[in-house]
Amino acid sequence: MHVLICGGAGYIGSHMVKLLAEQGYTVTIFDNLSTGHREAVKWGTLVQGDLLDIVALDALFKSNQFDAVMHFSAKSLVGESVEKPALYYLNNVIGSYNLLEQMRLHDVDKFVFSSTAATFGNPQTATIDEGHPQVPINPYGRTKLAVEYILGDYAQAYGLRSVSLRYFNAAGADPSGMIGESHDPETHLIPNVLKAVLGAGSNLRIFGDDYDTADGTCIRDYIHVNDLCEAHLLALKYMDKQDGAQAYNLGNGKGFSVLEVLNAAMSVVGKKIPYEIVERRPGDPATLVANSQLVTEQLNWKPVFTQIDEIISTAWNWHNNSTF
Ligand code: UDP
Repeated sequence: MHVLICGGAGYIGSHMVKLLAEQGYTVTIFDNLSTGHREAVKWGTLVQGDLLDIVALDALFKSNQFDAVMHFSAKSLVGESVEKPALYYLNNVIGSYNLLEQMRLHDVDKFVFSSTAATFGNPQTATIDEGHPQVPINPYGRTKLAVEYILGDYAQAYGLRSVSLRYFNAAGADPSGMIGESHDPETHLIPNVLKAVLGAGSNLRIFGDDYDTADGTCIRDYIHVNDLCEAHLLALKYMDKQDGAQAYNLGNGKGFSVLEVLNAAMSVVGKKIPYEIVERRPGDPATLVANSQLVTEQLNWKPVFTQIDEIISTAWNWHNNSTF
């Protein structure tokens, strides 16, 4: 089976490439390397190109017979999406549309889409299940929700099979230490904490300690990148027997505050990590925790990395020896 992985040189995409290659799939990676890394592509065949380049896409689909497509290529920073919505609509919506049109033209009918908890907006319940209203509060979330709508319409009209996976906070790295998270600039909590230990980033700042949570810092649901990828593999297999457009929330179902993450990181690295409390970051809801019961029941998915210190240990193993 031949799978096209768009964005396979990025953080989550490269872990997906590794898993599929290990499972015996043929993998082609299409990536413009804007935020991904050539060094992250250690398996499969890399084709450098952009989803906005229809000629390149057409050539890619003409020269390969893909059985399925996984789509990880997107702009994904909330703050940037507020400042540059045009960039987000172009990359995330038009880019996805171009890809789906190529799939339609070339009779490829299985699609796994990286969606996000940001499609829900401010949570109205303690944990978020698939029935929670989707009212995104930033352009990033709106671009991802727009693609979910497209997938519903394409299923109805063209029989496209798809699974959208709405990630909560992807974290950690493959335990091999061969690939991991590498963003520039880095905005995510766990890499910023670990970079502060290594002196490779700026000093650690915690964005607000006056939220309505037990210790005043924001609570998030951290899910290991390999557990995320396992869900994609199950989704791919599920589409063999299931048509239509499905969507699942993907998290550990357990929330950790920023200070809890920091304390866990201190015990993993065996050092005190200095930090300062600064102003809230715009757009951060106090709590975001998934209810992943549906994906557990329907796809038989079960996370392996359930403890926050295990997740941080794999990230530490990467950051301590990272090669890109
Ligand atoms: N955060 C922080 N300092 C940082 C990075 C993040 O205090 O250097 C906080 C952020 O405000 C949020 C939580 O950590 O409450 C998780 O943020 P991250 O950017 O990792 O993921 P998000 O939930 O925004 O997708």
